[in-house]
Amino acid sequence: MINFKQNTIALRILTVFLVSFTINRKNLCSNHPFFTPVKSPSVHFATAHSSLAEMIFDGHLSFENTEHTAKDFGGRYHFMPSAVLYPKSVSDISSVVKNIFQMGETTELTVVARGHGHSLEGQAQAHRGVVINMESLREPEMSFHTGIMPYVDVSAGELWINILHKSLKHGLAPKSWTDYLHLTVGGTLSNAGISGQAFEHGPQIDNVYQLQVVTGTGEVVICSEEQHSDLFHAVLGGLGQFGIITRARIALEPAPKKVKWIRALYSDFTIFSKDQERLIASENSFNYIEGFVIINRTGLLDNWRSSFSSKDPIQANQFTSEGRVLFCLEVAKYFNLEESDHIDKDIDNLLSDLNYIQSTLFLSEVSYVDFLDRVHVSELKLQEKGLWEVPHPWLNLLIPRSSVHLFAKEVFGNILSDTSNGPVLIYPVNKSRWKNGTSMVTPAENVFYLIAFLSSAIPSSTGKDGLEHILTQHQRILNFCGRSNLGIKQYLPHYRTQEEWKAHFGTFWEVFSKRKSIYDPLAILAPGQRIFQKRRHLDNEDLKLNSSVDKGLDGNPSKDII
Ligand code: FAD
Repeated sequence: MINFKQNTIALRILTVFLVSFTINRKNLCSNHPFFTPVKSPSVHFATAHSSLAEMIFDGHLSFENTEHTAKDFGGRYHFMPSAVLYPKSVSDISSVVKNIFQMGETTELTVVARGHGHSLEGQAQAHRGVVINMESLREPEMSFHTGIMPYVDVSAGELWINILHKSLKHGLAPKSWTDYLHLTVGGTLSNAGISGQAFEHGPQIDNVYQLQVVTGTGEVVICSEEQHSDLFHAVLGGLGQFGIITRARIALEPAPKKVKWIRALYSDFTIFSKDQERLIASENSFNYIEGFVIINRTGLLDNWRSSFSSKDPIQANQFTSEGRVLFCLEVAKYFNLEESDHIDKDIDNLLSDLNYIQSTLFLSEVSYVDFLDRVHVSELKLQEKGLWEVPHPWLNLLIPRSSVHLFAKEVFGNILSDTSNGPVLIYPVNKSRWKNGTSMVTPAENVFYLIAFLSSAIPSSTGKDGLEHILTQHQRILNFCGRSNLGIKQYLPHYRTQEEWKAHFGTFWEVFSKRKSIYDPLAILAPGQRIFQKRRHLDNEDLKLNSSVDKGLDGNPSKDII
């Protein structure tokens, strides 16, 4: 293997010079109108590349066929990298980051971890940088620990769907999910990982016992609540800014076999939100609580009939959704076969306190896997029609409870005239059940709503399903939130300037930027988030901070370098 690598070095160096020559001549960075190239490439650019090309990896570094890493699910941002690393070991990742860090002022190279590339605005891309294809990292093998507090150690490039299938073999499963499981552990832990279980268990970042991280200086650190907790907290929800997660220890619980999956409609937002809030506050509730908004939809209940059964088919036939603003409560209760004789009664009890429109109650019984992997079914259908690989201008907002009524009145009553461009999710979570200290920022209140506008745009359409129209609508929503001081935060945030990022983080900005100086002092990592610019040198303040890396912001003792 090594011989083979050595033989290819000369070829790589040649390729690098050709590639850097091409990069110097063409602007390959982006088709995005707001992108401004940082500075013209320095004479050191080619030198930096040849230094990379000389490196020997357990995996490999490629300077060719990198176009696929200049794309993401959002489909709107395209930053061409210089090279893609396909790591086979953590030391591959550490060496490449260390090398770039040591080049210091001589290079503008940056590094980004790419999970499954399901970001929306170029967050997993690096203009002229090195993209690390995390799915290539297969170590460690997934290893399960059963007992009172079961967990699994996984590579951060692992997809959640694979973790689900493997943990079920042990009768276990992670506690907190995203709605879609074809995402990587590192990708969701860098954001939060929020779904219908978050009201009870917190987001995915609250269900991690330990991480292995490669920092922006290339050091490999193991961190947890007890060990180097400052780095642990920084990385969780840290938007890839403080380190590359290479391994995660995920909390598990006994997995149920079956799920009762239920939908019911409301026409009054106040009644709907009251019921949702009551459910998330109750000790004995459903295991999953979400909801969505439906505006001016024809034949809604007919569509549901392919997967759900109506509790009252005759009355349901009379129900019309056309021209109306409706709110759908979506809940699920997990159970095992030995509970089959009383599960229906349990559900009737839970539903008896709710005030949905009686004729719109629909139920379904599915396996636990089918329930969790439900979005993949839609993905396959959309792929068949060529509608998966379209631009996805998504807007995800966290809205404090005290503002949600005003928001609903204006946005669902005025700004949106229909929801035909994609689902609009809406559900509350209770932060008092979440852990504190991660990098994720949320509104100031205990209860806040996740409201997600998950639109798909039809390429080249100039109508209501076109990109421009959807983006304008989202901007109107953001403008309204700003004008009315609703105290919202963006989830999967996206901003263009550091000023906007400062406003996003609020008082937490000081901690966030200080942590950056400690763990990624040259701002090498995740440039696609556009929070910090790659730096050319450390100033005195950074050197001071960096020499206290050993203490972290929490004053915990020195990092373990493994
Ligand atoms: P990527 O897009 O590859 O990366 C995202 C960011 O994380 C980048 O900045 C990247 O540099 C960084 N990153 C990736 N891996 C690592 C690593 N190992 N270490 C450090 N940084 C890393 N989110 C929810 O919370 N709840 C949902 O229900 C939900 N549903 C979704 C449904 C669909 C269909 C899609 C496309 C997305 C959904 N998301 C949801 C959003 C999703 O969680 C984020 O887009 C996530 O970042 C995607 O994961 P990924 O593996 O593709 O990450």
